[in-house]
Amino acid sequence: MSWSSIVGQERVKALLKRTIQSGRIAHAYLFYGPEGIGKDALAIEFAKTLNCAKGGVEACGICPNCQRMDSFQYPNIKLVFALPVGKNEEKGDDPIDVLTEAQVAEVQEQIQTKAKDPYQRIEITKANFIKINSVRDIKREAAMSRIEDGKKIFIIFNADMMNAEASNSLLKTLEEPLPGTILLLTTSAKDQLLPTIVSRCQLIKCDLLSDAEIETALIAHDGANESIARLAAQLANGSYSNARRLSVQDMMGERKDVVEFMRLVLGKRKTALIDMLDELASSTDRLGIERWLKLLQSWLRDALLIQQKAHAPILEEEKQSMESFVKNFQQANLIAAIQSVEKAIAHLDKNVYLHLILTTLAIDLRKNITEVPLV
Ligand SMILES: [Zn+2]
Repeated sequence: MSWSSIVGQERVKALLKRTIQSGRIAHAYLFYGPEGIGKDALAIEFAKTLNCAKGGVEACGICPNCQRMDSFQYPNIKLVFALPVGKNEEKGDDPIDVLTEAQVAEVQEQIQTKAKDPYQRIEITKANFIKINSVRDIKREAAMSRIEDGKKIFIIFNADMMNAEASNSLLKTLEEPLPGTILLLTTSAKDQLLPTIVSRCQLIKCDLLSDAEIETALIAHDGANESIARLAAQLANGSYSNARRLSVQDMMGERKDVVEFMRLVLGKRKTALIDMLDELASSTDRLGIERWLKLLQSWLRDALLIQQKAHAPILEEEKQSMESFVKNFQQANLIAAIQSVEKAIAHLDKNVYLHLILTTLAIDLRKNITEVPLV
C-alpha cells in the first residue's frame, strides 16, 4: 500500500505528511468520519510511514519494515479490534490465547484480508466489542518495547466498539502516555467514545469522497466497468465501501423508480403520478431524495448522449428502454430537462417545501420533453 493507493482524502494525506515531516508526532490520533471513506487505510499508511527505515514522508515499500508491515507481520505495529470472549476468560488473560483454534484461524484470515484491502472491515463471528484484555495488552506490549526499537504503534479499529471497561482502561493509557508509543484510533461514531478519550487525541477528520474519486477507484481497484462505476458512485453517498457493496441489482432497483417516474410524467395516468409525487414528498430522508434526483439527472444525461449519438457509458440493462425513450421523444429538450432537475436539487438544499419542488419538476420535465403540457 502507499498514500497514492488510498482513495481521495488529499487534504488528510497532506496533513499527515506534514506531521511526519515536522517530526512532532503526538501520542494519540483519532481518525474519524463516515463509514467506508478510508480512515483505517490512512491510519495504516501513517503507521507504516512512521516505521519505514528510510524515514521519509512516503513509506519506501521495499525496506524490511515496509515489507513486513504490508502483511501486518511487523511486530512494532499492533492491531486492536473486537474479538469474541473466550471460554472462562478472565481479566489479564491474553485476548487471543483464550480463543478456540477455529476462532484464531478466523482472526488470522481477517487480518490477512485487511492487509490486502484496508477498506475491508475486520469482522469476526461473535466479536461484539473490544475487550478490556485487548486494551491491557497494549500496556503490556508497550511496556516491553524499548525506545531504540523504533515507534510502537497500536491501531484500534472502530474504537467505538470498546466496552465501558476497555474504554476506561484506554483512558488511563492516554493519561499517562508511554514513551515511544503511538495510538491510532479510528471510528465512524465519534460521539460514542468517551469525551475524555476524544479530548486526549489529536483529531483527524476524514472527508466524504467525491463521486469522481469513487468512480475512478471502482474502475482502478475493483475492475468495474465505466457505467457501473459511475452509477455506484452516485448511489454511494460519498463512501467507497458503500459503492463496493452495491450490486447491479441494487442499482437497477433505484433506477427503476426513476424510470417509473419518467413514465408517469410523460404518460396519461395522472392519478398514478399524483400518488407517486405524494409518496416521494412524504419522505423525511432528504439525502435519499437528493440521491434520487441525482439518479434522475444522470438518467437524463445518458439519454442526452444517446440523442446526440455520443459515446454513453450505459448499463446493458437500461440500453433498450433508454433508446426507445429517445426515439419516442425526438424533439425533447433534454438539456432543459437536466437543468430543471438541477433547479430541484438547489431548491432542496434551500429547504423549499418538498411537494412543491417535485410537482414543479414534473411539470417542467413534461414541458421540456413533450409538446403536451401536464396541466
Ligand atoms: Zn520502508
